[in-house]
Amino acid sequence: MHLARFPRVHLAHLPTPLEPLPRLSKELGGPEIWIKRDDCTGLSTGGNKTRKLEFLMAEAQELGAQCVMTQGATQSNHARQTAAFAAKLGMECHLLLEDRTGYTDPAYTSNGNVLLDVLHGASFEMRGPDLDMHAEMEAVADQRRATGQNVYTIPGGGSNATGALGYVNCAFELLSQANDRSLRLDHIVHATGSAGTQAGLVVGLKAMNANVPLLGIGVRAPQPKQEENVFKLALATAEKLGCAGVVERTDVVANTDYVGEGYGLPGEDTLEAIRLFAQLESVLLDPVYSGKGAAGLIDLIRKGHFKKDERVVFVHTGGSAALFGYTQFFSNGAASKGKAA
Ligand SMILES: *Cc1c(COP(=O)(O)O)cnc(C)c1O
Repeated sequence: MHLARFPRVHLAHLPTPLEPLPRLSKELGGPEIWIKRDDCTGLSTGGNKTRKLEFLMAEAQELGAQCVMTQGATQSNHARQTAAFAAKLGMECHLLLEDRTGYTDPAYTSNGNVLLDVLHGASFEMRGPDLDMHAEMEAVADQRRATGQNVYTIPGGGSNATGALGYVNCAFELLSQANDRSLRLDHIVHATGSAGTQAGLVVGLKAMNANVPLLGIGVRAPQPKQEENVFKLALATAEKLGCAGVVERTDVVANTDYVGEGYGLPGEDTLEAIRLFAQLESVLLDPVYSGKGAAGLIDLIRKGHFKKDERVVFVHTGGSAALFGYTQFFSNGAASKGKAA
């Protein structure tokens, strides 16, 4: 496989840093925790969608798109990064945002990622929960196409085989950083949602025969569905890259014990993870994805899931802009509750 054969717009700040988290590791009594800073990909406060959008937006450009459309939750990081790419590339951007939480706090409905969507000049329309958001988006896109506009639609989370190429590349980048520094990696952990991140990583790791187990911490779907979504996308991604067959079903592992009340609804364990990372390592997590991923990582460490002398890399997928949509969870001293030592 050779990623340079695929069109790509180079806008991300890469490689992202790979850093140790000594204070968090000490607090938890081992293993040795490292972080892959994909929250630092550069575009409009960064995040994991930027790697995917480098490939997706290149495809949009090749097809002569005038407008890009995508969909996601109200505080979608993917929508915000798409809006930023469109601004930079001089394309129109239209978003369909789904109210998945029912939160009416103005911070949630208009600050955080929503503020940035608007700032980047994107237009958006809202939808209620439980609709087929992809179908909703295609219907709006078709109306625009009927007027002669060339519209490129991007699936939720940028998760198709094109977008997942960005995370195949991240697997190469991470292993190469570890190899250069003689860092043996024993586990990789990250938050998994629309599946593109995990699908890309698993294809990259398997294609290199790295033999490093990858664990996705789910934020929405139940385990069988999450693993099936990732596996299907991994197959399509491997096929696109000409290495069909590298990923087996057993390579795809998701733990969905940390979803809590549901998508976008942070529980006390998520808030604790956000506080621990902020107060021990000055790393900003988010309440929807990376906070839940880290809550899973922390709980699994406490349960002895990893050996004390192992090295675990947490892939920080970004999302800190969403913190400003969730201020209600951190007001009235709530942010300092359970302050780390
Ligand atoms: C979208 C997102 C994820 C999940 O990545 P998928 O590729 O959708 O599985 C994780 N963290 C953050 C901050 C995200 O925005």
